[in-house]
Amino acid sequence: MTETDKASKLKGLAWVIGAVGLAVVLGSGITPFVRAIPWSWEKGLAHSLGSTTYIDACRGNEKQEALLKQLVTRLYPLDRDDRRFSLDVQVVNNPEINAFAELGGKISINRGLLEKAQSPEEVAGVLAHEITHVGHRHILEGFVVHLMTIGGIQMVFGGSSQVKWTNFFLKMGFTRSQETEADEGGLARLQKAHINNQGFKDFFERMKDLSVVPAVLSDHPADEERSRMAARFPTQDPKPVMTDEEWKSFKSFCQ
Ligand SMILES: [Zn+2]
Repeated sequence: MTETDKASKLKGLAWVIGAVGLAVVLGSGITPFVRAIPWSWEKGLAHSLGSTTYIDACRGNEKQEALLKQLVTRLYPLDRDDRRFSLDVQVVNNPEINAFAELGGKISINRGLLEKAQSPEEVAGVLAHEITHVGHRHILEGFVVHLMTIGGIQMVFGGSSQVKWTNFFLKMGFTRSQETEADEGGLARLQKAHINNQGFKDFFERMKDLSVVPAVLSDHPADEERSRMAARFPTQDPKPVMTDEEWKSFKSFCQ
C-alpha cells in the first residue's frame, strides 16, 4: 500500500466515522449521512481496501465484451441522478448462482448465474437490482455498520488483507428494507429502460424452487410482495435486450 493509498484510506475512514458520530448524536439513523458522503470518497476507500474479484474476472471475446457493455449501457446511466455514482461490471468465473456489488460501484455477475438464467431479461433484472444497491449506497452503509462492530474494528486496525475485504463484500448481507428498495429501484430502472420485467419475476421465482436459496435471494421480499411491486412498475413498450443468437453467445462468456 502506498502513502497516498494510506492517506485516502484514513480520509475515507474519517468520513465514515464522522458520519456515524453525527448520526448517533442526531439519532436519525445513518442512511442520510452515508448518502451525503461524496462518491469520490467511496471510490477512494474501495481503492485503498482493495478487491480480489478481478482475479476471477473472465475475459469474453470481442463480441461478448460488447454485449456486456451494451447490457450495462441499457440500464445505466438513465437520468441525472445516475451521474452521482459510477459502475464497473464484470463477469466472474464462479459457478455459484450469484451477483454482488462491492464498494465503489464494482458489480460481479457469476458465471453460474449466466448459465442458470433463461433470458437476457433475467440477467438485466438482477443487474438492475445490484445497480440500485450501488446507487443507494447500501454497500457503504453496510460497511459503516460493520465498522461499529468488534469484527469491523479488528478488520480496519488489524490491517486486513484484500482477500478478507473481498470476502466481506461477497458475504455481506443487506437488510430486508434495503432488499425491498433494491427490488423497487430495479423494477423502476427496467421500466425506464423498456425491458420486460417478467424476467425479473421469473428468475426470482424459479430460483426459490431450488433446494438451496442462492445468496442473491436471501432476505428478498416474498413472491406476492414482488408481484405487487412489479405491478406498480408495469413494463412499457418493451424492447428486447439481445437477439437469441447474442444471448447464446453471452451465456458462454467464461468458456
Ligand atoms: Zn440485493
